[in-house]
Amino acid sequence: SSEIRETELTLTGDLCHHLRASLRVKPGEVLWLTDEHRQRYQVRVSALTSQALSAVILERRPGPIETAPPVLLAQALLKGDHMDWVVQKASELGVRTILPLISRHGVVRPQPERVASQVARWQRIATEAAQQSEQWQPPQVLVPLEVRRFFSSHAATCALLLAERQDTVGLTHVPLPTLPTDTVTLIVGPEGGWAEEELSHAIEGQCRAVSLGEHILRADTAAVTALSIVQSRLGR
Ligand code: SAM
Repeated sequence: SSEIRETELTLTGDLCHHLRASLRVKPGEVLWLTDEHRQRYQVRVSALTSQALSAVILERRPGPIETAPPVLLAQALLKGDHMDWVVQKASELGVRTILPLISRHGVVRPQPERVASQVARWQRIATEAAQQSEQWQPPQVLVPLEVRRFFSSHAATCALLLAERQDTVGLTHVPLPTLPTDTVTLIVGPEGGWAEEELSHAIEGQCRAVSLGEHILRADTAAVTALSIVQSRLGR
């Protein structure tokens, strides 16, 4: 957490720990920090303990204005630590939202009593990865949703379903929106791929099937590849 005053600020909790333990910040160092309103602060660290970092504010600047559409990754739940890996890499790649999907061929079914702690864990992974890669805002991790409910409720301008072995357009060629008020949604399947009925629901729900080429990639590789292509095409 943070407390920002006129000429000084204090950081505590995870953020203080990250700066001290991961980034090895020392008293006297000059840093740029960004708050959740994209306001940027140039600060000089005046004191640092395991509990709190205090700093003098040298300069305030508004952060950069987002000009490209945000990206939402709807990722079918993956087993083991593969989901954690996707959450981390997607966050490094600047995704705005991560929506875990419960799909027919996915082997992972979230236990209702564990969902809240699982989402909190992914959110921590996402926040740390975003801080590490100097994103101004960490992505938001949403509560897992059934694929069918997602296809009937989403309202993205551009929803792209990653599907192998389909006669589909390549992700490198599909038109993307240009306004920051639009969203690009990338939907990636589980290890077992999409069920036929999920593909039909997706198409009925105005999703466009897109391909990453003729080879079948692992789901986690497909997610990161798709995000890299889209973020690069959006100029990030
Ligand atoms: N077992 C499935 C099969 O053989 O049909 C393969 C599923 S693949 C390992 C997991 C997910 O990654 C897919 O549902 C899809 O979303 C994505 N994917 C993998 N390779 C892809 C490709 N070449 N093009 C588009 N999506 C791909």
